[in-house]
Amino acid sequence: MNNKSTEMRQFSGGATRNDDPNRLDYEGFLSPLVLRRYAQYLNKHREQADGVMRDSDNWQNGIPREVYMKSVFRHFMDMWAGHRQAWDVDMEESCCALLFNTMGYLFETLNRVDEKDPVLNGWSFNCGVVGCNEQASFYVRPLKMSLCFDHNEKRGD
Ligand SMILES: [Zn+2]
Repeated sequence: MNNKSTEMRQFSGGATRNDDPNRLDYEGFLSPLVLRRYAQYLNKHREQADGVMRDSDNWQNGIPREVYMKSVFRHFMDMWAGHRQAWDVDMEESCCALLFNTMGYLFETLNRVDEKDPVLNGWSFNCGVVGCNEQASFYVRPLKMSLCFDHNEKRGD
C-alpha cells in the first residue's frame, strides 16, 4: 500500500474525506460549455431520415469502426478546411462531428474484448454465473459477461 496515495482532508466544519490524487477529476478535465454544445449537436442529429427520433444512446447499439473512421476523415477535412479558410465550415458543428466519431470509435474499441488478450494484459475475471468461482475463459461482448469453460459450453441450451 502506497501511503502517499491517500491523504486525509479535513474541512473547517470538521468533516473529513480521503484525498486521493489519483482520483479522476472529471470536473476539471471536462468543460460544461463544450459538453452542452456537444449535446446540442447530438440532439439536432437525432432525427432520422424517416422522421423518427433516435434514442439518445442509439449509437451504443454498435456502429462498425470502419464507418466511424471514414466519417472522421470527412469531418476532419471540414475542420481543417475551416481552420485554413479553404471553404466555409461551421467550426462548432465540425468539432462536434469529430468528437462524436472519435467517441464512437473509442466506445467500440473499449468493447472489443476479443482484441484484448486477458492473459497478456494480466487480467483475470471470474465466471459471471452466480455461485461459480471458476476462472473465465470466454467473454461475451460488450464486456457484459465472462464465462468459464463449462458455462460457455452450456450457453444456448
Ligand atoms: Zn462458470
